[in-house]
Amino acid sequence: MSYDVINPATEAVVRTIELVDVDETDRAIERSHKAGESWRRVTPADRARLLRRYAAVVDEHNEELAQLEVANAGHTIGNARWEAGNVRDVLNYYSGAPERHSGKQIPVTGGVDITFYEPLGVVGIIVPWNFPMPIAGWGLAPALAAGNTVVLKPATLTPLTAMRLGELALDAGIPEGVVQVLPGAGSSVGYRFVTNPTVRKVCFTGSNDAGRKIMSGAADQVKRVTLELGGKSANIVFADADVAKAAAMAPYAVFDNAGQDCCARSRILVQDSAYDLFMEHFEAAVKGVKVMDPANDASEMGPLITASQRESVMSYVDESAVAFRGSAPEGTGYWMAPTVLETTDTSDRAFTEEIFGPVVSVVRFSDETHAIAIANDSQFGLSGSIWTRDSGRALRVARGVETGALSVNSNSSVRYNTPFGGFKMSGIGRELGPDALLGFSEEKNVFISTEE
Ligand code: NAD
Repeated sequence: MSYDVINPATEAVVRTIELVDVDETDRAIERSHKAGESWRRVTPADRARLLRRYAAVVDEHNEELAQLEVANAGHTIGNARWEAGNVRDVLNYYSGAPERHSGKQIPVTGGVDITFYEPLGVVGIIVPWNFPMPIAGWGLAPALAAGNTVVLKPATLTPLTAMRLGELALDAGIPEGVVQVLPGAGSSVGYRFVTNPTVRKVCFTGSNDAGRKIMSGAADQVKRVTLELGGKSANIVFADADVAKAAAMAPYAVFDNAGQDCCARSRILVQDSAYDLFMEHFEAAVKGVKVMDPANDASEMGPLITASQRESVMSYVDESAVAFRGSAPEGTGYWMAPTVLETTDTSDRAFTEEIFGPVVSVVRFSDETHAIAIANDSQFGLSGSIWTRDSGRALRVARGVETGALSVNSNSSVRYNTPFGGFKMSGIGRELGPDALLGFSEEKNVFISTEE
């Protein structure tokens, strides 16, 4: 079956691709399994060298990959270059892992006890449309480093950069069958990763609905899963913070990637006494966000991914709650202006559900306890920010908020060298950071008797 990939800024067809079906998925999984027999025996030093070479090849193609993402996903060119660079960085980071993925020697009676980290086998990686490149890389790099082979399914809407990353793996000398990219539907190709017993682990990033189906499907085979799901993160601004700075940076913490970001700080909590000052600076900052052609170097926000996504996002906007808006182009493309809602009702669906678009709700709080209570009154717990000049308060609140990746006086929660993942309904497991290979390995314990 063929599929037209659409540019969300122009609504033009970028390319028509062939989608794979379940039979082809099964054949690819079998090829992956076969390739794994020799890939797991590639020496750690050679695996490291191949990953470094893959990183170098991705780097050589940074601009090509970035331009492809602008056309396919409407990402700003600045973001897209960073995303391709992130794939390179993640590959480089985990290229150091094969030679350091050591087991233990454990003191026991009557012999020697040693542990090994064995590859799982075939790993299925399922990627959403909002960050096609980084999320592919976060699964791919540690999975390969740990000696697994990978079948990767990009989102139907955004397959192009992942397909190119698959080709670049071959160019880098990664053997045939070790990395296969399978563009296709989630319910058939993606779900086949769950039901085909040769796939030993599914790394899924996407919506909660699909995540739940995958988790319950995986139970049949006690299949390993990592789930990176939705978010509704809180940006907590205390009156003792640099309020002007917090307000100036807040738009980029939620409107980046047009708000289609699992880490979006889409709930802003501002302490009463700083509320008016914050809103004054925030309004100026929101109106200054450059929403324009994502291919333009100056662009800070592009279009939404599809017309239906925009429709869904707009359904959360109650005009009576709108405090102010930024601007957006009109006409062709799935544009929407950044929109700020003020709320007093924290049970309102705009305040509780993941909108996944350029809409943010602002609410007041009185003190630390109140701020933590509002922040934690959510089914999600993925990221968040705390703005304060009081370091004791920063740590108290950081420990109190039930979320996986927090930043203090900053909105950045993703670094390839630190763990990333969610509490509660935001997911299970962690990606990135020094321990990611543990999620792609089985620990084997071997006792050797020394008795005569
Ligand atoms: P989605 O769940 O619709 O799709 C994600 C991927 O899963 C796609 O490749 C899709 O084809 C596939 N899929 C869908 N149904 C499936 C099924 N039954 N079995 C197997 N695969 C299936 O999500 P989306 O709309 O592409 O992405 C948006 C969601 O992703 C948001 O909820 C967002 O918060 C989440 N997200 C989370 C993170 C994180 O790290 N926590 C990062 C990015 C996006």
